[in-house]
Amino acid sequence: MTERLYYQNSFLYNFSASVEDVLSLADGRRALVFDRTAFYPASGGQQFDTGWIEFVSAENEEAMEFPKLRVSEVLEDEAEGNVLQVFDNLTCALVLPVRVRGFIDVERRQDHMQQHSGQHVLSAAFLKLFDAPTLSFHMGDETCTIDLDIAKLSAAQCEQAERHANQIVWDDRQVLKHQATPEQARKIGVRKIPDAAHETLRLIEVRGVDLCACGGTHVLTTGQIGNIQLRKVEKVKQGMRVEFVCGVRALRFARKDFQTLTEAAALYSSHIWDVPTQSQKLIDASKNAQKQQQKLLEEIAELTAQQALARTPAECGCKIISEFFAERDLAFIKLYAQKLVATEDNVIALVGAGQGSPSLVFACSTGAQAFANGFDAGAQLKKIVGEVGGRGGGTPLLAQGGVPSADLIPALLARVAQAARAGGSRDD
Ligand SMILES: [Zn+2]
Repeated sequence: MTERLYYQNSFLYNFSASVEDVLSLADGRRALVFDRTAFYPASGGQQFDTGWIEFVSAENEEAMEFPKLRVSEVLEDEAEGNVLQVFDNLTCALVLPVRVRGFIDVERRQDHMQQHSGQHVLSAAFLKLFDAPTLSFHMGDETCTIDLDIAKLSAAQCEQAERHANQIVWDDRQVLKHQATPEQARKIGVRKIPDAAHETLRLIEVRGVDLCACGGTHVLTTGQIGNIQLRKVEKVKQGMRVEFVCGVRALRFARKDFQTLTEAAALYSSHIWDVPTQSQKLIDASKNAQKQQQKLLEEIAELTAQQALARTPAECGCKIISEFFAERDLAFIKLYAQKLVATEDNVIALVGAGQGSPSLVFACSTGAQAFANGFDAGAQLKKIVGEVGGRGGGTPLLAQGGVPSADLIPALLARVAQAARAGGSRDD
């Protein structure tokens, strides 16, 4: 069973130990078990430490002539009570006994201490203010979350909890470690006593504020947390999830927020606090412009349709209008075809667009359906686009589809028009 040096001292960043076991993991990586370690394994919501080890001489603990090895992950072997230091490239054969010196990545450990101690303080604030106990804690690479056993949380409540938690940070209260049996812990009202019965529990106390069972690494006083910043609140199945960052992460996030807002404000030539108002104005203006554009497009479609109908003579009682618009898109030709068949009752419209995805729209007035052996827009379009590897379909009165290239469209339209005319004259 590995002795955990981090239980006594979270600020112990290097240590020496004896290698007790060499393991091969299922994924092919290898791991070392030491008699004692300051490397924290992933557990209790906290992420694992990373760092380095070097092999040292058993006599004088001096480094031997081997390169340092990177500890890429640290795992907990709960069955054996061991901590596993995992290596991506530990290839040399090891003959025990071997002594090592371990070096913890300090910045990562300090960040974890800030997040984890910050979590205890924030959880205590939600419990005190709103009687909302913490169900679980997750420390991610970017942000941390706690899930609270409460149905709703307003923005004002979150702000209040954030203010209260930061007051505890500014009070610079001691963070203390205690040992107790589960029985003793229950008596003094410790929150979150683990179900698995341990002989002794490690308790973390934020002096005068919070006392709970926890195996994590913590700061010495709450001032070292720096500050606690709530980022997001959302409803989850078991209650409310609060996303937060502490200390160095809070600073990094605030800096990034400020930079982002500054860039946005520069686009509007406004103060950063006016960005939402300016954005709203722009969104409203853009919606208006879209409406206006749609109206104009309809008017153009209408006029173009009127002109086409005026210049197209009826052949055997039917007007077949076949047209390719290289500079227009599907939305326009759909409007145009619909205007054509709605304006007169004897029209077959065969229209193509070259802009955007090359597309075809076929439409047919109800009065023209009897023409051309019963012109069926959907069937005709499906057949013709299918021949060139495109897709599409619709009803007998209106159909649309896409083709691989705009260059194909004029010939396709000509073929369908010719077939419709031939069918029409055969009919008569
Ligand atoms: Zn904890």
